[in-house]
Amino acid sequence: MESLFTHSYAEIAEMLGLEKTFQAKIIYQNLIKGVSDFNSMTSLPKALRDRLSSAYGSALSSKAIRRDDDGDAVKLAVLLEDESIIECVRLSDGKGRYTACLSSQVGCAMGCAFCKTGTMGLVRNLTAGEIVEQLVHLESLGERISHIVYMGMGEALTNFTALIDSAEEIHREDGFGISFRKMTISTCGFVPGIRKLAELELPIRLAVSLVSADDEVRSRIMRINRTYPLAELKKAISSYQHHQDRRITLEYCLLSGVNTDKESADKLKAFTRSLDAVVNIIPWNPVPDLEFKTPSETEIRKFESYLKAAGIPYTIRREKGRGISGACGQLASETTRKS
Ligand code: SF4
Repeated sequence: MESLFTHSYAEIAEMLGLEKTFQAKIIYQNLIKGVSDFNSMTSLPKALRDRLSSAYGSALSSKAIRRDDDGDAVKLAVLLEDESIIECVRLSDGKGRYTACLSSQVGCAMGCAFCKTGTMGLVRNLTAGEIVEQLVHLESLGERISHIVYMGMGEALTNFTALIDSAEEIHREDGFGISFRKMTISTCGFVPGIRKLAELELPIRLAVSLVSADDEVRSRIMRINRTYPLAELKKAISSYQHHQDRRITLEYCLLSGVNTDKESADKLKAFTRSLDAVVNIIPWNPVPDLEFKTPSETEIRKFESYLKAAGIPYTIRREKGRGISGACGQLASETTRKS
Protein backbone atom coordinates (compact mmCIF):
# COMPACT_ATOMS: atom_id res chain seq x y z
CA MET A 1 0.00 0.00 0.00
CA GLU A 2 1.19 3.53 -0.81
CA SER A 3 2.05 5.66 2.24
CA LEU A 4 -0.96 7.47 3.70
CA PHE A 5 1.18 10.45 4.69
CA THR A 6 0.99 13.72 2.75
CA HIS A 7 -2.57 12.91 1.67
CA SER A 8 -5.68 14.78 2.75
CA TYR A 9 -8.28 12.96 4.86
CA ALA A 10 -10.55 12.77 1.81
CA GLU A 11 -7.76 11.15 -0.21
CA ILE A 12 -6.97 8.67 2.58
CA ALA A 13 -10.67 7.79 2.77
CA GLU A 14 -10.68 7.11 -0.95
CA MET A 15 -7.44 5.11 -0.86
CA LEU A 16 -8.80 2.83 1.88
CA GLY A 17 -12.41 2.75 0.67
CA LEU A 18 -13.69 4.36 3.90
CA GLU A 19 -17.31 5.46 4.07
CA LYS A 20 -16.60 8.43 6.31
CA THR A 21 -13.80 10.98 6.09
CA PHE A 22 -13.50 11.26 9.90
CA GLN A 23 -12.37 7.62 9.92
CA ALA A 24 -9.36 8.74 7.87
CA LYS A 25 -8.62 11.30 10.57
CA ILE A 26 -8.76 8.57 13.25
CA ILE A 27 -6.32 6.46 11.24
CA TYR A 28 -3.96 9.42 10.73
CA GLN A 29 -4.02 10.32 14.43
CA ASN A 30 -3.23 6.72 15.33
CA LEU A 31 -0.37 6.67 12.84
CA ILE A 32 1.35 9.72 14.23
CA LYS A 33 1.14 8.12 17.68
CA GLY A 34 2.96 5.10 16.28
CA VAL A 35 -0.09 2.81 16.08
CA SER A 36 0.13 1.24 12.65
CA ASP A 37 -1.80 -1.97 13.20
CA PHE A 38 -5.40 -1.40 12.06
CA ASN A 39 -6.60 -3.91 14.66
CA SER A 40 -5.28 -1.67 17.44
CA MET A 41 -7.21 1.40 16.22
CA THR A 42 -10.01 0.72 18.63
CA SER A 43 -12.07 3.80 17.84
CA LEU A 44 -12.82 2.34 14.40
CA PRO A 45 -15.71 -0.14 14.08
CA LYS A 46 -14.58 -3.74 14.48
CA ALA A 47 -15.79 -4.76 10.99
CA LEU A 48 -13.78 -1.95 9.40
CA ARG A 49 -10.68 -2.86 11.41
CA ASP A 50 -11.00 -6.47 10.27
CA ARG A 51 -11.40 -5.47 6.63
CA LEU A 52 -8.44 -3.06 6.63
CA SER A 53 -6.30 -5.46 8.55
CA SER A 54 -6.87 -8.35 6.20
CA ALA A 55 -6.51 -6.13 3.12
CA TYR A 56 -3.37 -4.22 4.18
CA GLY A 57 -2.01 -5.60 7.45
CA SER A 58 -0.43 -2.31 8.50
CA ALA A 59 -1.31 1.34 7.88
CA LEU A 60 2.32 2.03 7.00
CA SER A 61 3.88 1.31 3.64
CA SER A 62 7.25 0.47 5.21
CA LYS A 63 8.53 -1.47 8.18
CA ALA A 64 11.56 -1.31 10.42
CA ILE A 65 13.44 -4.57 10.03
CA ARG A 66 16.65 -4.06 11.96
CA ARG A 67 17.83 -1.96 14.85
CA ASP A 68 21.38 -1.14 15.89
CA ASP A 69 21.89 0.65 19.15
CA ASP A 70 24.94 2.60 20.22
CA GLY A 71 23.80 4.44 23.36
CA ASP A 72 23.27 7.92 21.96
CA ALA A 73 22.36 6.74 18.47
CA VAL A 74 19.88 4.17 17.24
CA LYS A 75 19.93 3.23 13.58
CA LEU A 76 16.98 1.55 11.89
CA ALA A 77 16.97 -0.28 8.58
CA VAL A 78 13.60 0.28 6.94
CA LEU A 79 12.13 -2.01 4.31
CA LEU A 80 10.11 -0.19 1.65
CA GLU A 81 7.20 -1.47 -0.37
CA ASP A 82 9.40 -2.30 -3.37
CA GLU A 83 11.80 -4.15 -1.04
CA SER A 84 14.48 -1.45 -1.15
CA ILE A 85 16.10 -0.84 2.22
CA ILE A 86 17.00 2.57 3.62
CA GLU A 87 18.44 3.69 6.93
CA CYS A 88 17.51 6.40 9.41
CA VAL A 89 18.97 7.33 12.77
CA ARG A 90 17.71 8.71 16.07
CA LEU A 91 20.33 10.80 17.82
CA SER A 92 20.17 11.82 21.44
CA ASP A 93 22.03 14.76 22.94
CA GLY A 94 21.98 13.02 26.32
CA LYS A 95 19.75 15.77 27.79
CA GLY A 96 16.43 14.45 26.56
CA ARG A 97 16.50 16.03 23.11
CA TYR A 98 16.05 13.63 20.22
CA THR A 99 16.80 14.30 16.56
CA ALA A 100 15.72 12.21 13.59
CA CYS A 101 18.19 11.92 10.74
CA LEU A 102 16.12 11.04 7.67
CA SER A 103 17.03 9.65 4.27
CA SER A 104 15.62 11.19 1.11
CA GLN A 105 16.75 8.67 -1.50
CA VAL A 106 17.69 5.04 -1.86
CA GLY A 107 21.41 5.53 -2.52
CA CYS A 108 22.73 8.76 -3.97
CA ALA A 109 23.92 9.92 -7.39
CA MET A 110 26.43 12.45 -6.10
CA GLY A 111 29.32 10.05 -5.52
CA CYS A 112 31.21 12.06 -2.89
CA ALA A 113 34.43 10.09 -2.48
CA PHE A 114 34.37 10.00 1.35
CA CYS A 115 30.77 8.80 1.70
CA LYS A 116 29.46 5.27 1.92
CA THR A 117 26.05 6.15 0.43
CA GLY A 118 27.85 7.59 -2.59
CA THR A 119 29.22 4.13 -3.38
CA MET A 120 25.68 2.82 -3.96
CA GLY A 121 24.73 5.12 -6.83
CA LEU A 122 21.14 6.34 -7.01
CA VAL A 123 18.51 3.61 -6.90
CA ARG A 124 15.49 5.91 -6.61
CA ASN A 125 13.96 8.92 -4.92
CA LEU A 126 11.84 8.35 -1.83
CA THR A 127 8.27 9.58 -1.82
CA ALA A 128 7.33 12.22 0.75
CA GLY A 129 5.34 9.56 2.62
CA GLU A 130 8.35 7.23 2.78
CA ILE A 131 10.42 10.07 4.24
CA VAL A 132 7.76 10.81 6.90
CA GLU A 133 7.36 7.13 7.81
CA GLN A 134 11.00 7.07 8.94
CA LEU A 135 9.97 9.52 11.64
CA VAL A 136 7.11 7.22 12.69
CA HIS A 137 9.54 4.30 13.00
CA LEU A 138 12.03 6.39 14.99
CA GLU A 139 9.31 7.68 17.34
CA SER A 140 8.15 4.10 17.86
CA LEU A 141 11.45 3.62 19.71
CA GLY A 142 9.71 5.42 22.55
CA GLU A 143 10.82 9.04 22.69
CA ARG A 144 9.27 12.17 21.19
CA ILE A 145 11.48 13.61 18.48
CA SER A 146 11.89 17.37 18.45
CA HIS A 147 14.38 18.02 15.65
CA ILE A 148 14.74 16.78 12.08
CA VAL A 149 17.88 16.68 9.97
CA TYR A 150 17.73 15.64 6.34
CA MET A 151 21.22 14.19 6.40
CA GLY A 152 20.64 10.51 5.81
CA MET A 153 21.03 8.70 2.52
CA GLY A 154 20.71 10.86 -0.58
CA GLU A 155 21.07 14.45 -1.76
CA ALA A 156 17.79 15.81 -0.43
CA LEU A 157 17.65 18.88 -2.68
CA THR A 158 17.61 16.72 -5.82
CA ASN A 159 14.35 15.19 -4.55
CA PHE A 160 12.94 18.64 -3.92
CA THR A 161 9.16 18.19 -4.10
CA ALA A 162 9.10 15.11 -1.88
CA LEU A 163 11.52 16.79 0.53
CA ILE A 164 9.37 19.90 0.96
CA ASP A 165 6.13 17.90 1.08
CA SER A 166 7.61 15.78 3.87
CA ALA A 167 8.78 18.88 5.78
CA GLU A 168 5.30 20.38 5.51
CA GLU A 169 3.72 17.14 6.68
CA ILE A 170 6.05 16.92 9.68
CA HIS A 171 5.29 20.57 10.45
CA ARG A 172 1.46 20.09 10.31
CA GLU A 173 -0.17 21.23 13.51
CA ASP A 174 -2.56 18.30 13.72
CA GLY A 175 0.33 15.94 12.98
CA PHE A 176 3.84 15.84 14.41
CA GLY A 177 3.83 19.63 14.87
CA ILE A 178 7.59 20.05 14.54
CA SER A 179 8.44 23.60 13.60
CA PHE A 180 10.39 24.37 10.40
CA ARG A 181 12.90 26.13 12.65
CA LYS A 182 13.83 22.76 14.12
CA MET A 183 14.57 21.25 10.72
CA THR A 184 17.86 21.26 8.86
CA ILE A 185 18.37 20.35 5.23
CA SER A 186 21.85 19.25 4.29
CA THR A 187 23.23 19.45 0.76
CA CYS A 188 26.54 18.67 -0.89
CA GLY A 189 26.18 21.98 -2.75
CA PHE A 190 23.39 21.43 -5.28
CA VAL A 191 23.08 25.08 -6.25
CA PRO A 192 19.71 25.01 -8.10
CA GLY A 193 18.17 23.34 -5.01
CA ILE A 194 19.63 25.95 -2.63
CA ARG A 195 18.18 28.70 -4.82
CA LYS A 196 14.76 27.04 -4.95
CA LEU A 197 14.78 26.55 -1.20
CA ALA A 198 15.68 30.22 -0.70
CA GLU A 199 12.66 31.28 -2.76
CA LEU A 200 10.30 29.29 -0.53
CA GLU A 201 11.31 31.42 2.45
CA LEU A 202 10.63 28.64 4.94
CA PRO A 203 12.64 29.10 8.15
CA ILE A 204 14.47 25.81 7.63
CA ARG A 205 18.16 25.69 8.47
CA LEU A 206 20.63 24.99 5.69
CA ALA A 207 23.76 22.90 6.11
CA VAL A 208 26.24 22.66 3.26
CA SER A 209 28.78 19.89 3.14
CA LEU A 210 31.80 21.95 2.12
CA VAL A 211 34.74 19.64 2.95
CA SER A 212 37.21 21.92 1.18
CA ALA A 213 37.29 25.58 0.18
CA ASP A 214 39.78 24.80 -2.57
CA ASP A 215 38.21 24.16 -5.98
CA GLU A 216 40.84 21.68 -7.07
CA VAL A 217 40.61 19.56 -3.90
CA ARG A 218 36.82 19.83 -3.73
CA SER A 219 36.35 18.81 -7.37
CA ARG A 220 38.54 15.79 -6.73
CA ILE A 221 36.51 14.49 -3.81
CA MET A 222 33.06 15.97 -4.54
CA ARG A 223 31.94 15.66 -8.16
CA ILE A 224 29.24 18.30 -7.62
CA ASN A 225 31.99 20.93 -7.49
CA ARG A 226 32.85 20.31 -11.15
CA THR A 227 29.35 21.56 -12.05
CA TYR A 228 28.87 24.12 -9.28
CA PRO A 229 32.27 25.41 -8.16
CA LEU A 230 32.86 27.31 -4.95
CA ALA A 231 32.15 30.80 -6.35
CA GLU A 232 28.70 29.70 -7.54
CA LEU A 233 28.06 27.84 -4.30
CA LYS A 234 28.93 30.91 -2.28
CA LYS A 235 26.58 33.08 -4.36
CA ALA A 236 23.73 30.60 -3.77
CA ILE A 237 24.44 30.50 -0.01
CA SER A 238 24.50 34.32 0.11
CA SER A 239 21.18 34.47 -1.68
CA TYR A 240 19.77 31.92 0.83
CA GLN A 241 20.91 34.17 3.65
CA HIS A 242 19.40 37.16 1.93
CA HIS A 243 15.97 35.43 2.00
CA GLN A 244 16.50 33.62 5.27
CA ASP A 245 18.24 35.54 7.98
CA ARG A 246 19.67 32.45 9.65
CA ARG A 247 23.18 31.27 10.30
CA ILE A 248 24.10 28.37 8.06
CA THR A 249 26.31 25.44 8.88
CA LEU A 250 29.26 24.47 6.73
CA GLU A 251 29.98 20.81 7.34
CA TYR A 252 33.70 20.19 7.11
CA CYS A 253 34.52 16.50 7.05
CA LEU A 254 38.11 16.37 8.21
CA LEU A 255 40.15 13.99 6.06
CA SER A 256 43.64 13.24 7.25
CA GLY A 257 46.29 14.75 4.98
CA VAL A 258 43.67 16.17 2.57
CA ASN A 259 42.08 19.26 4.11
CA THR A 260 43.73 19.66 7.51
CA ASP A 261 46.64 22.04 6.83
CA LYS A 262 46.94 25.77 7.38
CA GLU A 263 46.39 26.57 3.72
CA SER A 264 43.04 24.73 3.88
CA ALA A 265 42.07 26.80 6.94
CA ASP A 266 43.09 30.03 5.16
CA LYS A 267 40.92 29.12 2.16
CA LEU A 268 38.09 28.31 4.51
CA LYS A 269 38.47 31.74 6.07
CA ALA A 270 38.24 33.39 2.63
CA PHE A 271 35.14 31.34 1.80
CA THR A 272 33.33 32.22 5.01
CA ARG A 273 34.04 35.95 4.65
CA SER A 274 30.72 37.87 4.33
CA LEU A 275 28.70 34.75 5.25
CA ASP A 276 27.00 34.18 8.58
CA ALA A 277 28.26 30.64 8.97
CA VAL A 278 29.52 28.24 11.56
CA VAL A 279 31.91 25.51 10.50
CA ASN A 280 31.09 22.08 11.84
CA ILE A 281 34.22 19.96 11.94
CA ILE A 282 33.49 16.26 11.55
CA PRO A 283 36.50 13.99 11.78
CA TRP A 284 35.95 11.43 9.00
CA ASN A 285 34.30 8.20 10.06
CA PRO A 286 36.04 5.14 8.74
CA VAL A 287 34.22 3.38 5.90
CA PRO A 288 35.66 0.08 4.65
CA ASP A 289 37.09 0.22 1.11
CA LEU A 290 37.33 4.01 1.00
CA GLU A 291 40.78 5.50 0.60
CA PHE A 292 40.69 8.15 3.36
CA LYS A 293 42.07 8.19 6.87
CA THR A 294 40.54 9.51 10.08
CA PRO A 295 42.66 12.43 11.36
CA SER A 296 44.61 11.87 14.55
CA GLU A 297 43.73 13.83 17.68
CA THR A 298 46.89 15.94 17.10
CA GLU A 299 45.83 16.74 13.53
CA ILE A 300 42.35 17.71 14.74
CA ARG A 301 43.75 19.97 17.48
CA LYS A 302 46.15 21.61 15.03
CA PHE A 303 43.38 22.37 12.54
CA GLU A 304 41.29 23.71 15.39
CA SER A 305 44.13 26.07 16.32
CA TYR A 306 44.23 27.41 12.73
CA LEU A 307 40.49 28.10 12.87
CA LYS A 308 40.81 29.80 16.23
CA ALA A 309 43.64 31.98 14.99
CA ALA A 310 41.65 32.88 11.87
CA GLY A 311 38.58 33.79 13.97
CA ILE A 312 36.30 31.31 12.20
CA PRO A 313 33.31 30.21 14.33
CA TYR A 314 33.37 26.43 14.56
CA THR A 315 32.16 23.40 16.45
CA ILE A 316 33.58 19.91 16.51
CA ARG A 317 31.13 17.09 16.17
CA ARG A 318 32.20 14.17 18.28
CA GLU A 319 30.52 11.40 16.41
CA LYS A 320 27.56 9.62 17.81
CA GLY A 321 26.72 6.38 16.14
CA ARG A 322 30.14 5.57 14.78
CA GLY A 323 29.96 2.07 16.26
CA ILE A 324 26.77 1.28 14.34
CA SER A 325 27.76 2.96 11.06
CA GLY A 326 25.13 5.56 11.77
CA ALA A 327 27.42 8.56 11.70
CA CYS A 328 27.69 11.14 8.96
CA GLY A 329 28.71 9.64 5.62
CA GLN A 330 28.29 6.08 6.88
CA LEU A 331 24.71 5.32 5.97
CA ALA A 332 24.13 2.85 3.19
CA SER A 333 21.94 -0.16 3.22
CA GLU A 334 23.94 -3.33 2.96
CA THR A 335 21.42 -4.63 0.52
CA THR A 336 18.60 -3.37 -1.59
CA ARG A 337 16.51 -6.42 -2.16
CA LYS A 338 15.38 -5.11 -5.48
CA SER A 339 16.84 -2.19 -7.42
S1 SF4 B 1 27.74 13.04 1.12
FE1 SF4 B 1 25.54 13.27 0.73
S2 SF4 B 1 25.46 13.98 -1.39
FE2 SF4 B 1 27.52 13.13 -1.12
S3 SF4 B 1 27.33 10.99 -1.79
FE3 SF4 B 1 26.96 11.05 0.43
S4 SF4 B 1 24.75 11.16 0.64
FE4 SF4 B 1 25.25 11.76 -1.46
